[in-house]
Amino acid sequence: MKQVELKYGFEALEPHIDELTMRTHYTKHHATYTNNLNMALEKALELSNKTIEEILADLPAISDTVLRNTIQNNGGGYYNHNLYFTVISPEGGGEPTGVLAKQIEKDFGSFASFKEKIKSAALARFGSGWAWLSTDPAGNLAVSSTPNQDNPLMDQKGKWCPVLAIDVWEHAYYLKYKNLRADYIESFFQIIDWKEVAKRYEGAIT
Ligand code: MN
Repeated sequence: MKQVELKYGFEALEPHIDELTMRTHYTKHHATYTNNLNMALEKALELSNKTIEEILADLPAISDTVLRNTIQNNGGGYYNHNLYFTVISPEGGGEPTGVLAKQIEKDFGSFASFKEKIKSAALARFGSGWAWLSTDPAGNLAVSSTPNQDNPLMDQKGKWCPVLAIDVWEHAYYLKYKNLRADYIESFFQIIDWKEVAKRYEGAIT
């Protein structure tokens, strides 16, 4: 499996995310998860015709405990970062429009309350993890948070499809923001590519 190609340069998200953080995040952290996943998949031939989404939605099917943990951590890291790097853009920020905007109002009351909710989820995550906006097949939205490299696909057999990912591991923000996770999240909102999030949302509903 391959890392998603970035549509922008490592420096392009300045000043919100600094060049060195982006470069290290993509070429070291994400590359390592990807390599480790690919090495693990060589030992799991029964998974060879499955997508990463299918694999993560059915981890209990992997009977070997060590292999399952390796794929949960590194497959999660691979998938989560592919989504993270795809839903941010130098042209991002603002608010969504269209179907996604309507559903956010329906499920959270307003864009502002949605933002507060996902920000709280991200801040409440103790240690390393992620905050998510996900949809079920009917288009209902949910905000959640997971530890480590887990994600919403791993619950309920993939019922909830992530459409927005906020990485709150310190490696995502520490060089610039140090311990100030809230400032990083506020900046992250300046680069969210809502067109991409909306595309994923509309693609995930049936
Ligand atoms: Mn990360």
